[in-house]
Amino acid sequence: MTQNAIIWLRNDLRVTDNPALRAAVAHGPTTAIYIEETDASLRQRGAASRWWLHQSLKVLARDLAERGVALETLRGPAEQTVLDAVDRHDAAAVFWNRRYAPAERALDARIKTALHDAGVTAESYPGNVLVEPFDIETGGGKPYSVYSPFWKALKGRDIPTPQRRPDRHEAIDAPSVDTDYTAPSWSAKLADHWQIGEAAAQDRLDHFLEELVADYPDGRDIPAKDVTSRLSPHLAFGEISARQIWHTAQTVAQAHPEKASAIDKFLSELAWRDFNHVQLYHREDIATVPMVDKYAAMEWRDDPDGLEAWQKGRTGLPIVDAGMRELWETGVMHNRVRMLAASLLVKNMMIDWRLGERWFWDTLVDADAASNPGNWQWVAGSGLDAAPYFRIFNPVVQGERFDPAGDYVRRWVPEVKDLPDKWVHKPAEAPEDVKRKIAGDYPAPIVDLKASRERALAAMKAL
Ligand code: FAD
Repeated sequence: MTQNAIIWLRNDLRVTDNPALRAAVAHGPTTAIYIEETDASLRQRGAASRWWLHQSLKVLARDLAERGVALETLRGPAEQTVLDAVDRHDAAAVFWNRRYAPAERALDARIKTALHDAGVTAESYPGNVLVEPFDIETGGGKPYSVYSPFWKALKGRDIPTPQRRPDRHEAIDAPSVDTDYTAPSWSAKLADHWQIGEAAAQDRLDHFLEELVADYPDGRDIPAKDVTSRLSPHLAFGEISARQIWHTAQTVAQAHPEKASAIDKFLSELAWRDFNHVQLYHREDIATVPMVDKYAAMEWRDDPDGLEAWQKGRTGLPIVDAGMRELWETGVMHNRVRMLAASLLVKNMMIDWRLGERWFWDTLVDADAASNPGNWQWVAGSGLDAAPYFRIFNPVVQGERFDPAGDYVRRWVPEVKDLPDKWVHKPAEAPEDVKRKIAGDYPAPIVDLKASRERALAAMKAL
């Protein structure tokens, strides 16, 4: 009987610490497949993610070929495409690492049954989170809805040690990677900012732990500083696993006790990713349904022009515009600025958080089905353990606090680059002689921050 195996890759585009890949290779001659799933129940990737995906698959095809595994890129409804691949390769078994959105789980369960019915082994593994969402509960047997006890519980767990690469078989030529993604004109600029793939992710982690982590606790909120790990897109595609990050960081903390508390802070941020996966797993559809019911009654403003100004970085609030332009140019935005941009849209402009979430989903290279909606709902107040409704960030005050010399806004908003520090975050309030230094036609603030804050507070209090 054939021992041929298939590894079905999804958000786990790596060779090391890939339990499903190891199981497949141990089973027999292995083919890897990646499917652009066209199933209507699944959330389709955004444009920036599709650009990253294509590059990442090219790197992975080479890494797999070195170990004798060919990668096929396929397109179609998942179930039929998997069954066809099983026939084509005369496979006796299919392996994958689990994913956690309700629609994905339903689909995977259906495919598992179809494979079993066809006499094919189907096995799934944990590979994409630190602890699987169904495996971590409160003392009362409920999913965690508050972060600090979740973090405490997670820290107390034995996080599985990363697995080694599968055995090497005779190398083959790397197949070409064919996705239906035609690179949009803007993708070239993204390439200037990123090294893609598993080896690049490992290098980034090493660099971060060697050079940057000591400054992480104090510097992580300063958008002009490059002290965060920048691992998020690598994690979103599984080019590196959270477990690898966890264990490598712990090893560094043991060898360098002076870095231990900074590493602890870093890992506590990493764990938010798992916390968001708990929500993704247990909730209906976190990208569309508010997690706190009463927010369903919120009346959002219909303001397409305002939304477009926000998307294009023309709100007249420099720190927000800087973030939105950074996003467009690089595919990511600094975390603090993501919070400010989201807060302005949802609270001051009172535009539905789902519209902002969708824009991020399309433009972020780290767009993540758990962390993007999870964080948007956090800002909107409808998430679990969310920002309280009365916390409405003032983007001018926040800019002055976290970008005091204006380095970040000057980098992304050249219109204000010649303004003195005092006015760089509030050009509209500057005296006329200072205003003359604004280059080009920088807009006035899109909202009155004080009045719009009162309006949002009233609307949310009324809920
Ligand atoms: P670091 O500070 O180095 O953190 C390390 C890792 O921890 C990150 O790569 C990420 O995986 C995880 N992490 C850190 N903070 C968070 C957080 N708040 N929530 C979840 N995970 C976190 N992150 C995404 O990965 N994908 C998204 O689609 C996404 N959308 C967001 C939308 C909004 C409105 C906000 C406020 C935040 C969003 N985040 C998202 C969280 C955060 O902004 C990014 O993870 C972070 O900026 C990535 O940079 P880094 O890798 O240098 O982070």
